[in-house]
Amino acid sequence: MSKRLRTVVTGAGGFIGHHLVNRLKNDSHWVRGVDLKLPEYEPTRADEFEILDLRRYDNCLLATRGQIDHVYNLAADMGGIGYISFSHAEIAKNNILINAHMLESSRLNRTNRFLFSSSACVYAGYRQLSTDITPLREEDAYPADPEPGYGWEKLFSEELCRYYQRDHRFDTRIVRFHNVYGPLGTYEGGKEKAPAAICRKVALATDSGEIEIWGDGRQTRSFMYIDDCVEGLVRLMESDYCEPLNLGTSRMVSIDELVDLVMTISDKQLTKRYDLTKPQGVRGRNSDNSRLLQLLGWDPAIPLETGLEITYRWIQDELRLSNRLPVKHSSHAAD
Ligand code: NAD
Repeated sequence: MSKRLRTVVTGAGGFIGHHLVNRLKNDSHWVRGVDLKLPEYEPTRADEFEILDLRRYDNCLLATRGQIDHVYNLAADMGGIGYISFSHAEIAKNNILINAHMLESSRLNRTNRFLFSSSACVYAGYRQLSTDITPLREEDAYPADPEPGYGWEKLFSEELCRYYQRDHRFDTRIVRFHNVYGPLGTYEGGKEKAPAAICRKVALATDSGEIEIWGDGRQTRSFMYIDDCVEGLVRLMESDYCEPLNLGTSRMVSIDELVDLVMTISDKQLTKRYDLTKPQGVRGRNSDNSRLLQLLGWDPAIPLETGLEITYRWIQDELRLSNRLPVKHSSHAAD
């Protein structure tokens, strides 16, 4: 590491933010974490942690005070497809307020660099109508047709970053995450994403029981393990690139395949039951990593099998700690 930086991570009580704080501390930087809540599953290692509602401008000024080098703006009202398919007004309003106020306060407080966490939900729906879609390049977000609510807000906030670059010469980075998963992330309650929800359902099922799958299981996505996500974030922040950049893996799997992988890890053979009434998002989505590779000389490499194994074991342990795992019946019980 070259210089000890003063950094701010918003959303530091959430999944990616908490892991990023750990990474920045491992790299010996000074970190202020900010969120509405503390991390749920282990204590934060941030040097300062402030509970602030970043929809308020005065709180954003507080969050970014004191000669900060880098702001990683990860705070957002978000969740899996079940969450973002509803409450479009509330999600879009909350996130627009956070992003507009964080940008302006970071600029006024003379932060050197600001990273905005966007999403693959900005990509045009008409390019994601089949399961075997062409991987999405950064320019495929236009002509715009993003996910209602959450996706439109992310796309507009990307534009806002560009306006700040041009009009104020404010140095911004824009990352488009594709499905991040790993331990210490929400796995129940309605805001969890597909990998965590599947791990929870498999862990809670009895050996030859059933698993409910949202949609017909043939919808496709790519999934990135959290350590790769954090590595990419740090690399992008250190780079000179200020246009939107994909950060995800380019290995596309169906939800059925994802469930099969988790069943193999758990050593359970469950019957799949498809619920076609549940939201399932776009039909297919994958990341084109050409630009990522070209710019950062790197792309995410942790195999899905490895990351899912770690994630499944962590969720299983969490459920065991709260006595919620099904009791295993031994075939020798009657001996
Ligand atoms: P998360 O929900 O675990 O973390 C977000 C954090 O933001 C939460 O801890 C929440 O309390 C905080 N927050 C929400 N409203 C706030 C407010 N008004 N003031 C202060 N804090 C507030 O989500 P995550 O998975 O860690 O996502 C981090 C960022 O990455 C978000 O911007 C999200 O949109 C983006 N993203 C994530 C994924 C993914 O797969 N996890 C995919 C695409 C984009």
